[in-house]
Amino acid sequence: MPLLRALQRLGHRPTMQDWPGLIEAYRAWLPVTAATPVITLREGATPLIPAPVIAEHIGRGVKVFLKYDGLNPTGSFKDRGMTMAISKAREAGSEAVICASTGNTSAAAAAYARRGGMRAFVLIPDGYVAQGKLAQALLYGAEVLAVQGNFDRALAIVRDVADRYPVTLVNSVNPYRLQGQKTAAFEVVDALGEAPDWLCIPVGNAGNISAYWMGFQEYQAAGHCRQLPRMMGFQAAGSAPMVLGHTVEHPDTIATAIRIGNPVNREKALKVEAESKGGFMAVTDAEIIEAYKLLGSGEGVFCEPASAASVAGLLKRHQEVPAGATVVCVLTGNGLKDPTTAIENNDSKFHTGLAPETDVVARVMGF
Ligand SMILES: *Cc1c(COP(=O)(O)O)cnc(C)c1O
Repeated sequence: MPLLRALQRLGHRPTMQDWPGLIEAYRAWLPVTAATPVITLREGATPLIPAPVIAEHIGRGVKVFLKYDGLNPTGSFKDRGMTMAISKAREAGSEAVICASTGNTSAAAAAYARRGGMRAFVLIPDGYVAQGKLAQALLYGAEVLAVQGNFDRALAIVRDVADRYPVTLVNSVNPYRLQGQKTAAFEVVDALGEAPDWLCIPVGNAGNISAYWMGFQEYQAAGHCRQLPRMMGFQAAGSAPMVLGHTVEHPDTIATAIRIGNPVNREKALKVEAESKGGFMAVTDAEIIEAYKLLGSGEGVFCEPASAASVAGLLKRHQEVPAGATVVCVLTGNGLKDPTTAIENNDSKFHTGLAPETDVVARVMGF
């Protein structure tokens, strides 16, 4: 953010309050005008965290960074798109929004819609949404409709409803979502001073990979970076339509945020693959969980299982990374969203039922 750098040069010590949220920070790059009511929770400005343990696994001088978008206000990158989509819906006079969601979209839609004084309707696949995400949608005051079908079916229904009734659709078919999400690429370049060589990212509906690519391209055209990254999109093996080249009828994976068989942004993402010389690759649930545990216990970073697909993919394809390259892995959501998966998948020792005695505790500790 150039303004902030100018202030720093004048001796101003930056605080979090200097960050106005991504619409104000990147206003010139976004389709907003003076008439747009900016609905923000000061999303964006998430940290780019060095990952030395993962880099060590890869070796050959490769540098690895984690774009930890789980630190957005509702705990996922969906806030980037939602501040835009909801601000534009409000500008258009909309009084209600609707989305289908594997969880994070509903949490973000609910928070931003309520902040903008609108009603939020969210359709979720009954039984396949992580606990934390459901808690958020309910607490933020959404009207939650759990349908007995998967995400793809829920999306077909909300598209139909938005066609026929006065509600604004805020899934990633809404073009303002990708506009907001592209700011994550700006932040990566602002932090590194250049685009990375590889960008590793989990892929569900393939909106985020398309948004990042748009951001990198716009920044390069404006001279903020010289190069563009190869865009490496990772899907769960049981839910990998971009890898297989066809829709998956019954997507299945522990990474519920990317449990999507028919990606909305398929065509856009195929262009990204071709233009960036990138690729779509699958990682198994076991590989996702290995990366998820390594991120937690090795790097001290707790992300949700879907997010760990980016790191699982990097570890799986590490031999293809050029020596000395800079790699950014996008961690799309916060681990606290899905405590169940963490409790059921870790290598930690958990001693229960101990007598409340120093000797007992010390003995268990190995003293
Ligand atoms: C939405 C989501 C994704 C997938 O993003 P797409 O834009 O649908 O490809 C990945 N991880 C998390 C945590 C998400 O919430």
